[in-house]
Parts: sequence; C-alpha cells; structure tokens
Amino acid sequence: MNRLDPPITFDDAAALDTLASNVRLGSYPALAAHLIAIKAGYSQYVGVHGNVLTITPVVLPKALGKSLISHYASPPQDLTNIGELREESAVGTCPMCGSLHTWSLDHVLPKETHPAFAIFTPNLVPACHCNTKRGTALVGPNPGERILHPYFDDVLAERNLAARFDDLGRAPRITIRVLRHHTDPAYPAVSFHLEKVVLPAGARRYMIKRWARLVRQPSAIAANLSRRPQTLGELTDTLERERDRADDSRESKNNWDSLFLTGLLDAHVIGWLFDRLVDPLRNDDAPLRI
Ligand SMILES: [Zn+2]
Repeated sequence: MNRLDPPITFDDAAALDTLASNVRLGSYPALAAHLIAIKAGYSQYVGVHGNVLTITPVVLPKALGKSLISHYASPPQDLTNIGELREESAVGTCPMCGSLHTWSLDHVLPKETHPAFAIFTPNLVPACHCNTKRGTALVGPNPGERILHPYFDDVLAERNLAARFDDLGRAPRITIRVLRHHTDPAYPAVSFHLEKVVLPAGARRYMIKRWARLVRQPSAIAANLSRRPQTLGELTDTLERERDRADDSRESKNNWDSLFLTGLLDAHVIGWLFDRLVDPLRNDDAPLRI
C-alpha cells in the first residue's frame, strides 16, 4: 500500500476525441455517441477523488465496452499513457498491496465491470500479482468499506498496518492488523483493503518467511543484530531504525518489510526476542534457541 503522485501529463479527454475519429478502430463509430458521457465520468471520477463508493458508473453498449478493453490490451498509437505507465510501473513497492515489487498495471475500477474507465490514466495504477488475486473486489456491505486508491487516498502515506505475532516460538500465529482505531473514519476502507488486496497477495506468507529468517539469522533482519543488544532500549532503537530505513528505501510506510518490523516492536514480541538474543548459551548471530 502506498500513496503515489498521479500521472498528470496525459490528456485523457483529448485522447478520447482522437480515438473516436479513428475509422480503423473497433470503437468506431460507436465511441463518438458516448464521448460526452465518458468525459463526464472522467471528471466525476477525479472530482470525488477516486472514491469508488461515489464514482458514478458510465453505462456503455457491451460492444463498445469490449472495444475499450481491447484498446487497453493493445493500445492504439494515441494511447501513449498505457505503454508509459506499464514501463514506469515495473519497479518499486506495490502501491496496492505493499509487496516489494510491481510488474503490471491494475485497474482500480475493474475494466470488466467498468469498461468506460479501461483506458483512463487515473484508473491505472502500478501493481503486482495482487491485481489478479483481488479480482473485481471494490466495495463491501458495510459503510465506508472500499478499495483505497493510491493516487487519491492520503491515508496511504501513513502507517496503517502491522504484523501481529502470537503464540511466539518457531512457528507463531501471524496475522496482519490495522493500526487505526475502529472509530477512525478511514478504518472501514483500510480494513476492507487489507482483506481484499493485501492478504490475498500473500502478505501473511511473507511474514512467516521473515520470522523463520529472524530465528535462523537475526542479522538478516537488522544488521545490528549480529551482536547481542545490551538493553531492551537498544533493541528497540535497532528495530525502529531498521523499520525507518525500510520506509525510506521502499518509499512506503506500508511495505511488507515495515509491517514485519513494526510487528516485532510490539511489547510482548520485543521482550520475547530480547530474552532469546541475550541467551548466554547462544553465540552472536547464531540461530535463536527456541
Ligand atoms: Zn500488489
């Protein structure tokens, strides 16, 4: 999960005009009759800051919708935005789920259900395979439950999630929790996004692997753990610094490494970890004795 600056250099409305007059495309001539409706949809989408609960659907004939989806799959010359976004999106933390890589574009409003937005730049965000895992999930049954939008939701720039470790040992019970109070106005959306995007993408599996790595070689998680901490305060500083470094290098407070490290800072976890790091029967940076 991450807040991204939206791409602002592409004129989507002008591109629609050009597409509508291109006789070689499958969208000709139907697109011309729906230009006003689609452009109004584009404006409304931006006007409500990409809040999928309040975006008004644009109804199109099925055939025209299919044509727009095919324009996304094989962009005509005028849709330079799609190729550029695909190239730019190939690096970095996934803004949708927080995994440590991206490789494609995701439609925030799924193209299958909202074809009018299939080629609309603000609807296209970099993503990893969470794109396919999410499917067409968009809104939930309870108030405020919705997918968050990386170009519009400022809440994504804040720390929203952390791993939660219980039954500590070689294979603890691991969940991911929302750091906001349930009365926070953003809670329903963050919680829904966690359930529908972050967890299906495999965040929990990633935490399980990192925990196993921590037990095997603590310095693989934070270089300073190659020697035993003197105090609980020193261990806290080490993990906080490592978490801040992960925030900076991944350019996100909700990347999966930061979720993991934030979870280690929970009082019951860091206390457990400290006791095992300072175990007198354990050599520096040897596996934890559990
Ligand atoms: Zn992802």
